[in-house]
Amino acid sequence: MATIPSAAFNDPFITTVPTRDGAEVFTAEVMANFEIAPHVREITFHAEELSRFGVTGPDEFFGLLMPQHGQEYVPIPPQSTANIRGHVASLPNHSRPDLRWYTIRHLNWQRNTLSTQITTHGVKTAAEATGPGLRWVLSAEPGDKVGIVAASGLWHRPSYAPFERAVPQLLIGDATSAPSILSILEFLDQFHSAELSQTHVVLVASSSDDHPPEILSWRGRVASMELLYARYSDHVSVLQRCLTHKQRNEQAFDDVRYVYACCESALAKQARSFAKHELGIDPKNIFWSPFWIQGRPRP
Ligand SMILES: Cc1cc2nc3c(=O)[nH]c(=O)nc-3n(C[C@H](O)[C@H](O)[C@H](O)COP(=O)(O)OP(=O)(O)OC[C@H]3O[C@@H](n4cnc5c(N)ncnc54)[C@H](O)[C@@H]3O)c2cc1C
Repeated sequence: MATIPSAAFNDPFITTVPTRDGAEVFTAEVMANFEIAPHVREITFHAEELSRFGVTGPDEFFGLLMPQHGQEYVPIPPQSTANIRGHVASLPNHSRPDLRWYTIRHLNWQRNTLSTQITTHGVKTAAEATGPGLRWVLSAEPGDKVGIVAASGLWHRPSYAPFERAVPQLLIGDATSAPSILSILEFLDQFHSAELSQTHVVLVASSSDDHPPEILSWRGRVASMELLYARYSDHVSVLQRCLTHKQRNEQAFDDVRYVYACCESALAKQARSFAKHELGIDPKNIFWSPFWIQGRPRP
């Protein structure tokens, strides 16, 4: 089911890394915050600016400006967004919001809303959360105000030339990028459905509690899908074993020419190394991003 309107995509081909000209920041209000899996919350925001909001890619991410615990959100003036991190750092402590990055999962032009799906990795209350993002997520209520910083997509369709010969791809993620991978699969289904059968997915998580259940519905629709469940401390070795086994024993990724790896930092580095050394993929066709860093805040 498409959850971003077709017309919202500035370019439905996306054959190069997406970019957005200039950042926009606007104030939004929380409409809903509910659990969609035991360790995943879906938060929906409303803002007039979302009525015709365009996206550069299916895995478009955005900056979430959240008031510090016990504070009210003080809106950021739109003209001060070119260097949003620098601007936020320069604000006085009593009005400085925290900034973290999340992925647009649903966009609704009729209701002027966007939704994001955030993994709680099993933390139940705001008091137990170590980072400001999760602390806010676990206490956010309808009516709360935040800032949204428009950013861009990260993934692009691997193809040799625009509108021609798409090439097989491998998407590697964890609980934090399950929403991105779901949105990429929906986008392919919407605009380039033949490419689903050329798309491999490997997702590492602690258990099925950590990702939206709908990922299971794509099994059988993509070239292959591995859902690997293990403790955090074993994620890297479990991914390594799976990728190596699939490649050496099944030659599963022989024709893969693009790898997307968005997940915890060590996992993303391991995926990049496999793509480069085992699959021999040109680094310009490997997109990798540390979505979070085990043991310390992501800058
Ligand atoms: C482009 C982009 C898109 C993203 N999209 C999403 C998304 O759609 N959904 C989503 O859930 N996340 C997403 N993330 C990841 C999210 O921004 C990070 O997990 C972020 O660090 C959470 O902020 P925090 O303040 O809760 O924790 P931080 O302050 O960053 O970290 C504090 C502590 O919490 C631990 N921690 C943080 N995140 C996790 C985790 N996921 N599992 C286990 N321990 C953790 C760290 O080890 C650290 O010790 C995205 C990141 C990027 C860069």
